[in-house]
Amino acid sequence: MKENGTDRSATQLVRLGRDTRASFDFVNPPLVRGSTVLHGDVADMRERVRRRNEGEDGEGDTPVAYGIYGTPTHLAFYKALTALEGGHRSWAFPSGLTACTMAILAYVQHGDHVLIPDSVYWPTRRFARDTLPRYGVEASFYDPRVGEQGRGAVEALFRPNTRLLFLESPGSLTFEMQDVPLMADVARARGAVSVIDNTWATPLYFQPLAHGVDVSVHAATKYIGGHSDLIMGTVTCNERAWPRMRETVHHYGLTTSPDDCWLALRGLRSMGARLAQHRATAESMIAWLKRQPEVERILYPADPDDAGHALWKRDMSGASGLFGVALKQGIAEARFHAFVDGMRLFGRGYSWGGFESLLIPALPERAVVPLAHSGRVFRIGAGLEDASDLIADLEAGFARLRAAG
Ligand SMILES: *Cc1c(COP(=O)(O)O)cnc(C)c1O
Repeated sequence: MKENGTDRSATQLVRLGRDTRASFDFVNPPLVRGSTVLHGDVADMRERVRRRNEGEDGEGDTPVAYGIYGTPTHLAFYKALTALEGGHRSWAFPSGLTACTMAILAYVQHGDHVLIPDSVYWPTRRFARDTLPRYGVEASFYDPRVGEQGRGAVEALFRPNTRLLFLESPGSLTFEMQDVPLMADVARARGAVSVIDNTWATPLYFQPLAHGVDVSVHAATKYIGGHSDLIMGTVTCNERAWPRMRETVHHYGLTTSPDDCWLALRGLRSMGARLAQHRATAESMIAWLKRQPEVERILYPADPDDAGHALWKRDMSGASGLFGVALKQGIAEARFHAFVDGMRLFGRGYSWGGFESLLIPALPERAVVPLAHSGRVFRIGAGLEDASDLIADLEAGFARLRAAG
């Protein structure tokens, strides 16, 4: 499909990052494990170190000086991700959370102020609230929907020392869409770096950098990995944001195993097909859920009734399979727990984006943004099972919800 004049499609997912010459004519790149890289001579050593110092390494075409700067397996994955995101360079981290926290740390220093959406992934919030102050960085939390009130309201969030604007759209528990282009534009005008957690939309359905954001973060743990067997985070930077990120990952010595990059690249290959199925299954469940009298509202920006639907339609080219369900008030806790606990096909587990369906209650103490709703909320990650089986499981669950006592 065409987005912003660039072709980001399942076809691209299949082809990116492949270099059959470097792969000895095999389809996939080799899994290269390595620390030491051998240099031809002193001049070669000097040249590789110069390239590293000047930021010219890291795209797979030029050999690196040492394993920490990325094996060919890392670089094949980075290259594919960078092309999908329309960025300058990418890097992988040991977890999605590290990618979020390092994407903040890379750009701030003592005395700075950062803006974090109230809807942000909870551990990112905890980091901003409890850890940043130890380094003299103050975080304030803003309403993710502030963009709806216009540019002036967004500008009013910024202080003279605001160095970074963090975005997450939609929020992965409460699903508010943000006006990303507006927010990123204000950040840029104020001299602040903008960083977005783009995990829900995946690099296939939203390209934040084309909308003015500087750094796009993913929990590759989710849809990129796709099989609940990988924990990894990524950042993709534009040219402006890359030098500080590169310096940060090199200075902290942040790297991931080539095995994990190999799994992530393998995950990308089938991500288009998986996402189409995740969404179709989510929409079948949503159609059924909307007919249940206990359901107050579905939290899913691809749904025409969702408050963020217009923004989703304007900015994103698709949707993944994670959504929330807000129930009407007055459902007793014991009934709600019986509903969740009795699920047979839906696992009760954190994370999402794997092949298995998950259902968790949204813990009210973590939903900092008042969901504009006081009833109980649960979140479903649609897996790859048959939708009819999942709906049968939900049907039995709603029967438990309705049972007397
Ligand atoms: C899961 C998740 C993360 C963190 O990823 P981990 O690999 O589990 O650390 C960050 N942001 C969002 C939106 C997530 O869903």
